[in-house]
Amino acid sequence: MGTDIISPVRVRFAPSPTGHLHIGSFRTALFNWLFARHHGGTFLLRIEDTDLERSKSEYTDSIMAALEWVDLQPDETVMIQSERLQEHKRVLQELLSSGNAYKCFCTQDEIAERSNNSTFISYDGLCRTADQSQSAPYVVRFKLPEIDSVSFDDLIRGTITVPIGQLDDFIIARTDGTPTYNFVVVVDDAAMKITQVIRGEDHISNTPKQILLYQALGYRVPQFAHIPLILGPSGERLSKRDGATSALAYKELGYLPDALVNYLVRLGWAHGNQEIFSREQLVEFFTLDAVGKKGSIFDIEKLNWINGMYIREHSSKELLDYIAKELDAEFAQRLSGWSDAQKEAAIDLYKERAHTLIELVKEVTLFHDGPQTYQESDIQKWTDTSTKEYINALIAMIENEKPDTIDALKGAVKSLTKTLGIKFVALAQPMRIALIGSSAGPGVFEMFELVGREKAIERLKRLRDTLQ
Ligand SMILES: [Zn+2]
Repeated sequence: MGTDIISPVRVRFAPSPTGHLHIGSFRTALFNWLFARHHGGTFLLRIEDTDLERSKSEYTDSIMAALEWVDLQPDETVMIQSERLQEHKRVLQELLSSGNAYKCFCTQDEIAERSNNSTFISYDGLCRTADQSQSAPYVVRFKLPEIDSVSFDDLIRGTITVPIGQLDDFIIARTDGTPTYNFVVVVDDAAMKITQVIRGEDHISNTPKQILLYQALGYRVPQFAHIPLILGPSGERLSKRDGATSALAYKELGYLPDALVNYLVRLGWAHGNQEIFSREQLVEFFTLDAVGKKGSIFDIEKLNWINGMYIREHSSKELLDYIAKELDAEFAQRLSGWSDAQKEAAIDLYKERAHTLIELVKEVTLFHDGPQTYQESDIQKWTDTSTKEYINALIAMIENEKPDTIDALKGAVKSLTKTLGIKFVALAQPMRIALIGSSAGPGVFEMFELVGREKAIERLKRLRDTLQ
């Protein structure tokens, strides 16, 4: 793509606090942040809270918490849009004075009646020539210039041209005097000296109107980049039906921040066939021309795979610290009777298999507490009328020989199975079921050693007593 980037780069993320941060908006924030860092620019945050009825401070807090969780901090003071109403009104007056905007006194019904456009109710510009000093209620409309079309070079999609006939003299202030979305966005982006507006493709239809406002106000028009949406498996925009849509929900579900970042950036952006990127690599490689033009389907299996990779990259100590700080403050305490080394060893055993930290916490807790129930299908598959006798022989052997290393235990169990004339799994699987309630889990001898001989024998006896 031939378009030069306006620099020094200043970009912004501008969420509305009318809900928790949507995973798609979260990716938009990431793209802005990466773009700023890649170009040595500035990343800014603006809270668009002018919809006073729907905006809530708890959502602002939740948005900030989501950004903090992944360490996306704005480089300058956060702009709060609602604090700028006086400035918005001042600029509105400027447009009225320059003749680029005018008061319209028509009612909705009058406009609909006069409109000859069947696809949208367009305004015919009647009040362009109306007496502006009347006292009737009015909205303020932007006066479209005498041009054929509005054109811009989207940094992702290339040149986009919209014929002026698709627009009308759109409203920039409501009857109560409050300015509308497109107007305040332009005033605020100009005040923040934004050089690139990187946002979701649902904003494309706003862009021609905003460009006309920039021009009428004599501001420099920024560059635009519209990111394709994140889709659910059905191919529609990702919605609550498809699973969690808020960024912070993924924290609660046990995803590591860097794993979610890695996954979301790769969802819509590519650098060769590479899948796993450090934050530094993302900054180094990220450019908008490598962002795809089509929507990407959210794939939880792939996120799980990436999260598993990141879990394994961390030491057990780091994982325990993260879990205590961000996920489950009580987790380490619940592993009562275990030393720090035992806790870490248990995490080590399970982290090879876990896709999320919630899974890890659940499995390690079960391992620590011992099973409350046994997986029925595993009992069916791995035990029979003789298992009780084998377990008794195993307990007797352990109590006599007291094997004190993993290898010694393994050797002793192997020779016992030979003596009994049974396959190794006929004893190893019931051992595993006794320890954790199912036959799927880490190495049985590693688990046995971690649980400790005394507790392991207790668990073997409990299983034995439930068998026929
Ligand atoms: Zn009118």
